[in-house]
Amino acid sequence: MSQLTAPQQSLLDRVLEHMVRLGHAATPQRRLVAQELLTSPRALTARQLSDSLNDQGERVGVMTVYRTLALLAEIGAAYTLHDHISEGAEAHYVFCSDRHHHHLICSACWGVWEVEGCGLSEAQSRVGDRLGFQVQSHSLDYYGLCAHCAGAAAGRV
Ligand SMILES: [Zn+2]
Ligand SMILES: [Zn+2]
Ligand SMILES: [Zn+2]
Repeated sequence: MSQLTAPQQSLLDRVLEHMVRLGHAATPQRRLVAQELLTSPRALTARQLSDSLNDQGERVGVMTVYRTLALLAEIGAAYTLHDHISEGAEAHYVFCSDRHHHHLICSACWGVWEVEGCGLSEAQSRVGDRLGFQVQSHSLDYYGLCAHCAGAAAGRV
């Protein structure tokens, strides 16, 4: 199990508290799944996450992992990447910080980076004003190749 940095630990604590406030027990298995997702540099499927925990001697079944990931997504602590990239791919999940952000998603390695400061709030209210619509949120993901994968594609790595 990867060590958590201090900011990661406090984010994890906030997420687990939030989970409990919403009436879901923060069981040891849920903690393990949340921590593993938080420390992964890439988006993971339920099976990958379960395999990775099993490799570390922590037995957490795929269904438990799957339900925990769905719960994390439901409470806003995880983001689900469906098959935008490869047709028919299993859902991949990534841990989300609690600040407003967007995602940069590498379509070759499933690496996901958070981008803060989107500048879309103004566009959001302009769009809403025009149609008399009260826009409350927006989402935006960027897909492409990370620096490493772009280098590999160009034959430089
Ligand atoms: Zn996110
Ligand atoms: Zn990549
Ligand atoms: Zn935004």
